[in-house]
Amino acid sequence: MKLSPLILLALIVPSLCSGFGNPAKKDTASAMVVYDAQVSFLPQADFSSNYYNEIIDSLVMLDTVPVSLVNQLSIYKTLASKKEVELPAVIDSIFDSREVTQTSLNAVNIFMAAIERAVVKPTGFELYIPLDDSPYPANTLYSNWNTQVPNPFRNSLAKFDTTLTLLLVDSLANCGFHTPFDGVVTSRFGWRYGRNHNGIDIDLEVWDPVHSAFPGVVRVARYYKGFGRVVVVRHYNGLETLYAHLHRFKVKPGDIVEAGDIVGLGGSSGNSTGSHLHFEVRFQGVPIKPSQIINFRTNQLRSSVINLRKSGAFLVAVPETREYEVKKGDYLYQVARTFGISVEKLCAMNGLKSTESLKVGQKLIVGT
Ligand SMILES: [Zn+2]
Repeated sequence: MKLSPLILLALIVPSLCSGFGNPAKKDTASAMVVYDAQVSFLPQADFSSNYYNEIIDSLVMLDTVPVSLVNQLSIYKTLASKKEVELPAVIDSIFDSREVTQTSLNAVNIFMAAIERAVVKPTGFELYIPLDDSPYPANTLYSNWNTQVPNPFRNSLAKFDTTLTLLLVDSLANCGFHTPFDGVVTSRFGWRYGRNHNGIDIDLEVWDPVHSAFPGVVRVARYYKGFGRVVVVRHYNGLETLYAHLHRFKVKPGDIVEAGDIVGLGGSSGNSTGSHLHFEVRFQGVPIKPSQIINFRTNQLRSSVINLRKSGAFLVAVPETREYEVKKGDYLYQVARTFGISVEKLCAMNGLKSTESLKVGQKLIVGT
């Protein structure tokens, strides 16, 4: 459906001229955005059904009634009159009881994208770390809380005969990660000067704030040999991150930190020439190449889920892409709901328009 300028006008003109005069209604009308074949709502859209009645009334009085748009608005109206908990059942009934038209697909997808809060949390993630009531993160994995030594763990790589899947952040909450320091990487992970460099170096100035990459609990904050002033944070998914050569501490062992909390100020303490941050990521003491997890150019995680695989003396973090094969009767909103992502995000990840129908057997990326 290509919206003609007439329809565009139909939405704008009534909101300004014909009985839509009071400010509250003007606000709701302005929340509707029409462009090309898409009708969408800004997040603050008011979904009261009176609003839809008024728009529909004004549309059906036009010389050329935009039937498809009226149908679409009728679906919004139906959805708007329901409580959030009733929505999944109502949507299912729309798809069960009627011929599923492009209009209804579009309407449901757009409506659900606008009220993202209705998306339920995913239950399919298998996290490697069992929860227990210890105050220390991933305690079942380590059963060791050493506040003195940054890496007291024996290299336990022999145990890694299977691939481990770790959830790095909660993709729905869109939080739980902060780059340790936004700066130029001056030395990478790997063999250097006849020994392994188990982290990366990021250039910084003395006193620059250094941030915890993920939420967790501070295990070490002390001066330790070549690391100088070093902070180690244990995270809930079992990873540990290490921040070395600090000039000042901003945390102490046992402190609970969120992603982005300042653990210290950058410097050049310990075995360091020039101020920089030495940053490590480890899992049970085994180093992981930080750039496999974090893109240091964009300061974003490469993926919210990683698979850890054994490779030589290291663990390799492989971003996990989750794929879903479309079954008969699937539709965008339902797939998005199943995997706990918004329709908008699902469309963006797959280069789809929210108006597109899914084909049986089509592969969709449903998470990274
Ligand atoms: Zn280093």
